[in-house]
Amino acid sequence: MIAMSAQTYLDANATAPLRPEARAAMAAALDLTGNPSSVHRFGRLARRYTEDAREQVAALVGARPAQIVFTSGGTEANNLALKGTKAASILVSAIEHDSVLAAAPGAIRIPVTSAGSIDLDALDRLLAGGERPALVSVMLANNETGAIQPIASVVERTRAHGAQTHCDAVQAAGRLPISMAELGVDLLTLSAHKLGGPQGVGALVVAEPVGLAPLLGGGGQERGRRAGTENVAAIAGFGAAAAAALAELEKQSEIGQLRDEMEARACAAVPGTIVFGRAAPRLANTSCLAMPGLAAETQVMALDLAGVAISAGAACSSGKVRASHVLAAMGCGPEEAGRAIRVSLSWQSTQSDIDRFVEAWTALARRRAMSGNDRITLPAA
Ligand code: PLP
Repeated sequence: MIAMSAQTYLDANATAPLRPEARAAMAAALDLTGNPSSVHRFGRLARRYTEDAREQVAALVGARPAQIVFTSGGTEANNLALKGTKAASILVSAIEHDSVLAAAPGAIRIPVTSAGSIDLDALDRLLAGGERPALVSVMLANNETGAIQPIASVVERTRAHGAQTHCDAVQAAGRLPISMAELGVDLLTLSAHKLGGPQGVGALVVAEPVGLAPLLGGGGQERGRRAGTENVAAIAGFGAAAAAALAELEKQSEIGQLRDEMEARACAAVPGTIVFGRAAPRLANTSCLAMPGLAAETQVMALDLAGVAISAGAACSSGKVRASHVLAAMGCGPEEAGRAIRVSLSWQSTQSDIDRFVEAWTALARRRAMSGNDRITLPAA
């Protein structure tokens, strides 16, 4: 029997636990006084922290430090990429994060297959016909299903049409090996808090010679591409988390074994369970599951009461009950999508976390089956 006071956190795609290396780097940076733009020794020390972090973040994605533009997070980096390039016409995949979709409201959407992978034939047709796109934005891995997108094939096509490629690698960074040069993308988005760094800091990696108009003016920081005094402590934490995530990349295969075991046990215990995106290559840590007959919000609340934190659909928008545009693009109807939960493991997840989830989720399915309808009564918190 699981003690109810035990807490299991399986929502790393919303935010991952802070790594101890990041905490230590931030604590050290918070003791600094200097502004990295100041020329005196205090400023130079602060500058050293940001430049060390720039090297660490660059190393995570096989880029050069000068290509890193620190931002306030993935959302800002996506906005900078889509607005800063001033592209006249843009194609985006239909499963992009809201921060991409909102930054390019007029963009044409590239459909995806039922497995949640970009439809390359449809991309070919869109590139060949009509207005020539100047920028194509496709994420490296989806935040809801974990589906990994064939970016090299996307780049091959966009280049052949003279377009640039932006790739949102927020969920993939620290979970997949990434080489900016091998991917061949022009712009790559990163966020610290998905890989064990602090919230509120991210980066846009910019391959030269991509021209980029800053979103914020009023200072020459980040080589004139992002004005404003740098958040030194957050950047230091980002750098330390990036280095730790890179050093631990091979741990992803263990995480994948835990995820696979969790899915196998959940499917065996609850007949009719759907696993979305299973036919596509997926991030090792992510699982998007639907339990027959019970709304996702009810599952999230019931699991929370059992001490297990997961999310319904996209956690960035949770709190609001809203159909997932990702599952809809995969051809999933609103009823089925409304039952989908996301379980996402972190660098800290263990076998006992998986055991707790499976036990709590299957117990919930049994209660639902006994109640005979989708309105089970939850005890007061
Ligand atoms: N892109 C993807 C794929 C995400 O999952 C998220 C956050 O969930 C973001 C961008 C936004 O990143 P941030 O929270 O750093 O603004």
